[in-house]
Amino acid sequence: MSMHDIWESIIAFYEPTLEILGLWTLGLPLFITVIAMIFIISQKWQKPLTLRSLFNAVFPKDQYAHASSRVDIWNGILLLLVGFPLVGVMAISGIAIADHVAVWFNTEFGTRSTLIESSWLLVSVQFLAYFLSVDFVGYWVHRWCHTNPLLWHLHKPHHTAETLTPWTLFRQHPVEFFGLNIIPAVVGGAFTGLVLHATGTTILPGTAAAVGTAAYIAFFVIDVFSHVHIPVSYGWMNRIILAPVMHNLHHSMEPHHWDKNNAVILTLWDWMFGTLYLPKKNEVWRWGCNDEEYGNANPHKTLRGFYIDPFITLYKHLRDGKSSNL
Ligand SMILES: [Zn+2]
Ligand SMILES: [Zn+2]
Repeated sequence: MSMHDIWESIIAFYEPTLEILGLWTLGLPLFITVIAMIFIISQKWQKPLTLRSLFNAVFPKDQYAHASSRVDIWNGILLLLVGFPLVGVMAISGIAIADHVAVWFNTEFGTRSTLIESSWLLVSVQFLAYFLSVDFVGYWVHRWCHTNPLLWHLHKPHHTAETLTPWTLFRQHPVEFFGLNIIPAVVGGAFTGLVLHATGTTILPGTAAAVGTAAYIAFFVIDVFSHVHIPVSYGWMNRIILAPVMHNLHHSMEPHHWDKNNAVILTLWDWMFGTLYLPKKNEVWRWGCNDEEYGNANPHKTLRGFYIDPFITLYKHLRDGKSSNL
């Protein structure tokens, strides 16, 4: 293999990351503008509007200078460098899995005649099958991370965040990021394969485009916004789609908020399966895991603790047969 080939393979490996970073460049000005607008409206701003006061509203110093945010940002950079190519490949693999599963069913049980002729209806069915199944499995994986004591050790680092910024989205332990994020794409892909077989069709280009667009909206509009420091509410839509206030509450350290609002995109699953918590008017909460592991006692206040502590608590749990943290 020549140097040129090695270089080409590195470029190919990082292509999904570069694409995502390109989208981020497009999304960032939009994000800053929207946060500034939301701040002005939600605070019914009395002070004179200056560029400095707007900048402070979008990037509050007490959030970004906090030790918790530093862990989010450094881990986020690491995940972007190492992880995003893999996650990009995984996300694309979901569609590839759907195709392979459909071929397997067709070989085993014979090809069925096409049920749906209209291409827009077909794209809608294929898109909804993939999006709803991936999001449904995402909800359950997240919910199990909270209820299964072993999985909790891996998900807990996301909840020891004491500040919220868009970087907190990347506050995921690498084992969780690589190990658990792949499950929805695999299961959703397999289910979509079954739908393809049942409807006697193959993935249409329109479906792939719709999945790409939905992934962009899911990432920028829903997941990035779900970690902003301002608890933006979508009103009655809070029962359907994840508004910032709903995930903001998921990060609450108040015991009566624990394990609520597990949605990745659709809060509809929380509503259907009894984990929805609509914040009351003027309800306030602190961000963090619990009172015992807060501030100086936070086991993940440094990057070292963030990476190592889950392995230690998991090891102790397996050794003692019970969790010391639950
Ligand atoms: Zn959680
Ligand atoms: Zn979160």
